[in-house]
This record gives sequence, C-alpha cells and structure tokens, in this order.
Amino acid sequence: MKYVLVSGGVISGVGKGIIASSTGLLLKTSGLKVTSIKIDPYMNIDAGTMSPIEHGECYVLDDGGECDLDLGNYERYLHITLRRDNNITTGKIYQQVIAAERRGDYLGKTVQVVPHVTGAIEEWVERVAKVPVDDSGEEPDVCVIELGGTVGDIESAPFIHAMTQLQRNVGKNNFFQIHVSYVPVIPPGASGEQKTKPTQRAVGDVRSAGLNPDLIACRCERPLEEPIIKKIANMCQVEHEQVFAVHDVSTTYRVPLLLEKQNLLPILRRKLQLDAITIPPTLV
Ligand code: ADP
Repeated sequence: MKYVLVSGGVISGVGKGIIASSTGLLLKTSGLKVTSIKIDPYMNIDAGTMSPIEHGECYVLDDGGECDLDLGNYERYLHITLRRDNNITTGKIYQQVIAAERRGDYLGKTVQVVPHVTGAIEEWVERVAKVPVDDSGEEPDVCVIELGGTVGDIESAPFIHAMTQLQRNVGKNNFFQIHVSYVPVIPPGASGEQKTKPTQRAVGDVRSAGLNPDLIACRCERPLEEPIIKKIANMCQVEHEQVFAVHDVSTTYRVPLLLEKQNLLPILRRKLQLDAITIPPTLV
C-alpha cells in the first residue's frame, strides 16, 4: 500500500481537498486503484451535528455516514464509493479508545495520547486503506489521506504524530507528502507582490512536527512568478521541481491539469516506485 498525505499550512480552506482529489485522479489515470481517507481533527463524531452555516452542507455517504464535503469530491473525482470509516475525526478515535479502556483492553496501562490515541489513528488508516472502494472489489494500490485543519494547530498534533509513525512503519518509498501552503499577494491585485514568508514558516512548522514534505503546493490568486518559485525552493531547501504553483482557476476540475503540467505523476512514480505495481494491461 502506498500513502499520499496532503496536509496544509498558513490558513484553512487553502485547497487541500481539491489537491488531494486531483492527485488521486492523476494516479487513477495511470491505472492504479485509489482510495481516500479524510481526517477532520474535531471532537464531533461526524459532521451530522455541525451547522451548515459554519461548515458547508454535510455530505451523506451510501452507508449513511455524515461527513465533510471533501468526501463528495473524492467520490466524484475518483469514481469510488466511500464509507463512514473513510472519515476519521478526533471524536471517533477518542470514542474507540475510551470504549477499549472501559472493556479493559489496555490491561491496566495508563492510556495516553501517545502511544494509544496515535496508535489507534495509525491502525484505523492502515485498516481502512485496504477496503475496496470500486466495482473491481480489489484492494486499492494507493490511499490519499487528507489531514484537515492546519499543521501547528493543537488539534492536529496527534494526527501528525500518527502520520510520522505511519511513515516510519511503511517506509519512505511508500509514503509521499504534499504540503499545501498559501502565497498571499500584498497589496491584493495585479501590482501586488507574492509573499513567501508564510510558506517558509509553514514548512518549518511541518518539519519541526517530524514530517518532511516531498512537495510544497503553493496556492496563490495568480500564477506564481518564477523568482518566487526559486525563492521558496531556496528558503525551504527543496528542489525547484518540488515547488508546485496552484493558482485560482475558473473551475476546480482544472486543478488536475495544473498538477499534471508540473509533472506530478513522474515525481510520484519515482518516489513511490509505482512502476513496480503491476497494472492490468486493459488499463494501461
Ligand atoms: P481545504 O480542503 O484546504 O479546506 P478545499 O479543497 O475544500 O480546501 O477548498 C476550499 C475552497 O476553495 C473550495 O470552495 C474550493 O472549490 C476552492 N478552491 C480550491 N482550490 C482552488 C483553485 N485552485 N482555484 C479556485 N478555487 C479553488
């Protein structure tokens, strides 16, 4: 199983969901079976009790699971059917850990965020990633995980820790991280300057949390200027090809093309050694 983690920095609503769905779509076009998991680091068990004014409409899955709209994007972009377990919330994880504690499953141990909550998150991800989500009924090859919120929030910390654990356990060639950042234009408008400092800070935050992004996707209102891409690569100490520009587009269905033009697939294939996965000849 290969994992692609999509995390975000600077602000929420930066476009993680669209980038995660688009990445999944590109992987699917190369013949791989793709599933997805959305992590929402809030205490609600699911989005069913949350005000649509605050959070947008609640998306209802085939099994009745009530969740965030992003799950709808995954189903549409990837042509898959997800279940309630494809949406992890802090509430669901704590509910499971506390139920296990009441049953005595921890055999008298002190139950702690690390390793018990983080272990429950990792176990959940590894279990659900294997569940077939399309008509083939076969286990997926790749699981795209979107971590909601922004890295650095207190709420996200156990999930980040679980992801570092997952990366260690599955190995570097089975784990790819895209960190989505925001490049503001100051002052807004055509004459404004694209500012890189929030991205530099966001990448610093994610590294200090124990993850090292393979790709920095920069959302900006207009295409990133070449010197700005160079500056981000230089300041964040990554290669030029690891900085992606994702500007505002008229429809989010253009985002997969933006990523494809910047060679996302070859980069993913190289790092995740995807050529080793046999694809049925009918799909190539
Ligand atoms: P997040 O998952 O980070 O909260 P979303 O992927 O849900 O963010 O995107 C937030 C909003 O921004 C959505 O309404 C989405 O349609 C829009 N959006 C995302 N990426 C782009 C883009 N490149 N151009 C225009 N709108 C976008």
